[in-house]
Amino acid sequence: MALPVAEWQARTARLWAALDPVLKERMGAASLHDAVRLGCDLLRSQEEEEAALVRLCHRARTGKEPEAASWYREQGNREFKRGQYQAALRLYSKAASHEPPGSPEVSVCFANRSAALLHLGHFEVCLEDIARAESHGYPDRLLPKVLLRKAECLLCLERLQEAQDILRVLESKITLDGVMTTHLTRLKKLSQLKVKLGEKKRSPEPAREARGGIQGEPEVWEENSRISGASSSLSLRFDAERGRHLVASQDIVAGQSLVKEEAFVSVLCPGESFPLQDGDTAWDTRATNADLYCHRCLRQLLASVPCQGCSYAKYCSRDCADMAWQQYHRTECSLGALLLTLGVFCHVALRTVLLAGFAEVSRLVEWSHHGEKNLQNPEAGCKPLSDAGDGSRGIPGCGSSGQYQSSYQALFHLLPHTEQHSPEHKFLCTLSVVAICKQLQAAGLEAAVLNQESPQQGSKPKTCEKTSDELSPELKTVAEAMLRHVLQLQCNAQAITVMQELGPGDGAVVDKKPVRLATAFFPVLSLLNHSCCPNTSVSFSGTAATVRASQPISSGQEVLHCYGPHWCRMRVAERQQLLSQYFFECRCQVCLEELESGVKSVVSIRNSFCCPKCQAQMQEEEDTLCCSNEACATSASRDHLSGRLQELQQQIKKALDLLRVGKADQAIKMLLKCQVDAGTFLSPEHLLMGEMEDHLAQVYATLGKWQEAARHLKKSIEIVEMHHGPSSVETGHELFKLAQILFNGFAVSEALSTIQRAEGILSVHFGPQSAQIQELQEMKACLSELPRNILQRT
Ligand SMILES: [Zn+2]
Ligand SMILES: [Zn+2]
Ligand SMILES: [Zn+2]
Ligand SMILES: [Zn+2]
Repeated sequence: MALPVAEWQARTARLWAALDPVLKERMGAASLHDAVRLGCDLLRSQEEEEAALVRLCHRARTGKEPEAASWYREQGNREFKRGQYQAALRLYSKAASHEPPGSPEVSVCFANRSAALLHLGHFEVCLEDIARAESHGYPDRLLPKVLLRKAECLLCLERLQEAQDILRVLESKITLDGVMTTHLTRLKKLSQLKVKLGEKKRSPEPAREARGGIQGEPEVWEENSRISGASSSLSLRFDAERGRHLVASQDIVAGQSLVKEEAFVSVLCPGESFPLQDGDTAWDTRATNADLYCHRCLRQLLASVPCQGCSYAKYCSRDCADMAWQQYHRTECSLGALLLTLGVFCHVALRTVLLAGFAEVSRLVEWSHHGEKNLQNPEAGCKPLSDAGDGSRGIPGCGSSGQYQSSYQALFHLLPHTEQHSPEHKFLCTLSVVAICKQLQAAGLEAAVLNQESPQQGSKPKTCEKTSDELSPELKTVAEAMLRHVLQLQCNAQAITVMQELGPGDGAVVDKKPVRLATAFFPVLSLLNHSCCPNTSVSFSGTAATVRASQPISSGQEVLHCYGPHWCRMRVAERQQLLSQYFFECRCQVCLEELESGVKSVVSIRNSFCCPKCQAQMQEEEDTLCCSNEACATSASRDHLSGRLQELQQQIKKALDLLRVGKADQAIKMLLKCQVDAGTFLSPEHLLMGEMEDHLAQVYATLGKWQEAARHLKKSIEIVEMHHGPSSVETGHELFKLAQILFNGFAVSEALSTIQRAEGILSVHFGPQSAQIQELQEMKACLSELPRNILQRT
């Protein structure tokens, strides 16, 4: 997903293999500037490759397809009739994204969607959709239907005067049109609404429940005067070994915010159901990231506003759509398929140069040619900082005043490691970037990229006839900057993740898992070095990141962040393997300890197999595993046990599928069988043992069997704590679920103590204002208001 699709990677790999050795060598040693020139020459002589890329792009459907629109609308109507309003809502949104703007068809999509929104109780958004339908030329003969809906919405919102006005308009409209049979049902509804209106007018508006007092303490935040977005408790340092890094300049407590940064650039990851196979005509009804989150601000979508030019960019609001268009989407819109085919890194690279503006891009590219040495080797030209004072002047990426901020200049200075990437990888990235720039030129978008014009939304730039033209010098500069950014991303891409709700759920207990939403550049966050045992935790809200101390950090200690391979989840060898993409060997505390001691890490012991005969720990001896109990001496092949593990995972998946279709009893039976099976060959502390307990808890919760659910979840929590630690995010999420279960089961005192524990952990990771903390506090408030007789029962 980050890199181009497999077929394009394979093609460039073949091209590379067949390349003249002299050219290979030149490419390997080439600067970014020379790599782009070489790439241009190569791609010009390879028309076949370009044609292949065009074919690959046909798979990614990003244009507006009227047939898709009507198909999605029909599917939406079907779900609507079945009362599946959430599904209908998504399908109407998909339909709307395929209709031409301003057409009666798109207005019908919005009108249909407003009906789903009304059923789901989203009255304000329903009104917005009705207004959208009206502004897109909703057919007059259908108007009474939406006007009735509008009146109903206004009634629900207690906007009585407006509701009355609408009803009056309706009445005259219906009389004017003459009573037809289709109007009879509407007339009935109208009179019902009028009765309701009368009732509401007589009874005074009920006092709104006061929801104050639940807000958490506002956080203390003092911004650093030298690093924008960083806390004043940090200072920026530089040395040859660690490069730029952040150090605590005073004692920091757990939960304290250390960095609050808006992404310089972020690109929504397309999500799972891409790509469709060649010749696949059935449109996908599944919701992808593009259907669920705003293309620009990553906010969760309810009633999306489609782009006027393509079917893949969907926004939370008109404002977001307009802003995105101004900033980058007018250039990206027609390139959607190419960008999906070439991967998120290329897309981020393009958007980065669009956001920076051509003047800034060419200034820095120009400067890098003179200072190429400085950039490759950041130590050169700036003295090591020995004093503890604020000596950030001269640190790469800092402005002339010595201030470091989330700017294009700071981003440009992130290390591209040009010499460390393999020449094949550089080759792939170069060809991909050049292909994008050629497409920009061919689509007549060069002026937009160079900020020489500002076309109106929806206007089509005229395209050149010839596509194999030589790139203009300006676009070569753009390509060079993009190549730098793609290479930088390998080490500096920051995933924006959110906790996504799993399945529709019944609302009582919400199961969530973290999903990768977007890929972004955060120049300030990038100052943090990696540790497999970090002292911080990162959370996201929209496109903003917050780094918090996950434990106390004393003055002078380095502030560290985990790039992915956490010591709880994998062994040192696996971690080092993963970290090799960042071109460094981890020398963090846990890595050093594990490497030195030579013994198997705790992780491997906990996630190991046990003897099928006596349940003692199995020990590795090459391909076979032997029982550690000498008296037993049972052995088994590694492949055999791995096979059983896979089979078990398949069974668990089947059980979850049963739960999804409402067969909870069968799901329980299957999971219990899995547990028995697992007990014969997995260590009792194996993570999968915990997962099964967690699933069982989930099933019992859907049945309303709260006590059983709590019992299983507590076992899951024990195992999660063992693996991730008692104050980890993972434990926090499990405790949150337990709190929900206890809350639903009226186990008041236990619920209250669990809420407190969950709050303690989650506020360290996500801050006191986060949605989870608010929810926990609402539960607490609710429990404390329960009548005494219920409280006494427990
Ligand atoms: Zn938005
Ligand atoms: Zn578009
Ligand atoms: Zn490490
Ligand atoms: Zn044994």
